[in-house]
Amino acid sequence: MKLKQINDSIYYLENVRETDRPVLGYVVGDSFSIMIDCGNSKSHLDAFIKCLDDNNLPRPKYALITHWHWDHTFGMHAFDGETIVSSATNEALKRLKEWEWDEEAVVKRLETKEEIEFAYNCMKKEYDTFDKIKVSTGNIMFENALTLDLGGTTCQIIKVGGPHEDDSCVVYIKEAGVLFAGDAHSGDYYHGEGKIDPIKMKEYIELLSTLSFTTYIPGHDAPMSKEQIIPLLNRFCEVK
Ligand SMILES: [Zn+2]
Repeated sequence: MKLKQINDSIYYLENVRETDRPVLGYVVGDSFSIMIDCGNSKSHLDAFIKCLDDNNLPRPKYALITHWHWDHTFGMHAFDGETIVSSATNEALKRLKEWEWDEEAVVKRLETKEEIEFAYNCMKKEYDTFDKIKVSTGNIMFENALTLDLGGTTCQIIKVGGPHEDDSCVVYIKEAGVLFAGDAHSGDYYHGEGKIDPIKMKEYIELLSTLSFTTYIPGHDAPMSKEQIIPLLNRFCEVK
């Protein structure tokens, strides 16, 4: 798990497949810095903050959350700043916050299909016991988009929906032409066994083509160029 640099102001911490830790993004401006997603636990978030400290990078003032899934949000409670979420993401987090977190309760949710096997297995690897899990809601809410001026760098969080989850957001850094995509283009694991809806994918690609970017950073993969990602996603648009 290494902190990788995209340019002078944009970095990301690599994902970890084994425990499903997603990419954590970081953007530093002249006035303040932000991070993208809070990771799947306090220890994931702490590892990220340590990387920033080691590189003398200022700690983020805000965390922008791409969607409600555990691996992107369960580090929120440990974040020393304000968390920014879409109101759709916040509604989902409210539900998760009310849930009980122990082995029995999680297994029960597997039976009712509120939880998925893959997440259960990864949570078990990330946490000693489920009762260590803490769910937080956001501090700042937006409906469809929100723009932050970091000083010389503008970050826009845009709710895009797409095939993965209805609340999926991307974070667009206009000047640099960088897009943090979260899991927006992935399949629907909570309602559709990982299937990709070709219509939702098509709408997502149409949105992507309106944004001017050169680097696309997915939540669980290495960065790609726009020329790489668009044809790759187009393959999922054919209605079978
Ligand atoms: Zn996800």
